Amino acid sequence: MALPDFSKEMARPRANMVERQLKARDISDPRVLEAMGAVPRHIFVEEALALRAYDDSPIPIGHGQFISQPYMVASMTQALAPKPTDRILEIGSGCGYQTAILACLAGTVHAVEILAPLRDRSLATLSRLGLSNVSMRLGDGRQGWPEFAPFQGILVAAFSEALPKKLFDQLSVGGRLVIPLGPEDNQRLVLISKDADGGQRRRILEGCRFVPLV
Ligand code: SAH
Repeated sequence: MALPDFSKEMARPRANMVERQLKARDISDPRVLEAMGAVPRHIFVEEALALRAYDDSPIPIGHGQFISQPYMVASMTQALAPKPTDRILEIGSGCGYQTAILACLAGTVHAVEILAPLRDRSLATLSRLGLSNVSMRLGDGRQGWPEFAPFQGILVAAFSEALPKKLFDQLSVGGRLVIPLGPEDNQRLVLISKDADGGQRRRILEGCRFVPLV
């Protein structure tokens, strides 16, 4: 993974995060563990919160939004299982941390974020990391990004009562979509795949707590 050298910055808390929060739970995909061990999570949050960046919890990123807990990022990524040639759509890229993890593992990442200040800040952070396989659009993620469809993987980082139809339409046959579904107080992370005949297969992964897809 050819990231600029942030490897010494906060190396100990990052290694602890991988051991205690990811390996100690059910994260076993070596590529996911490597990416989580390499991407400097602390540069995605405000400097005042950098010391908390590797805590086992979400952290505020402004505008009422949160960077997801490290375990949740890893779990969603492991379920998505991006391959090095995959084109991935990410909805709700926020501070860009999940985007960076996906960019390390996939061919290209197309991210959609609805809040301009978060889009601007995340693009600046991603360029510090030299990740050039990411494109980002400001707008409503429920529309997906039809110009680049179909996607082999779609990851949604905000909950919805129902699966937005346009997202499933933009998933390739055999593709995987990870999304938190449910009523706000009883959300489930769901893995949805598209069969050869275009049908839907769903697997509930775990309970979760996300902000709403607006
Ligand atoms: N995974 C990101 C952000 C999670 S918070 C991180 O770790 O930083 C969810 C994000 O979804 C927020 O940034 C919010 O602005 C965005 N969002 C909410 N509704 C959206 C929509 N309809 N389209 C695109 N982004 C949306």
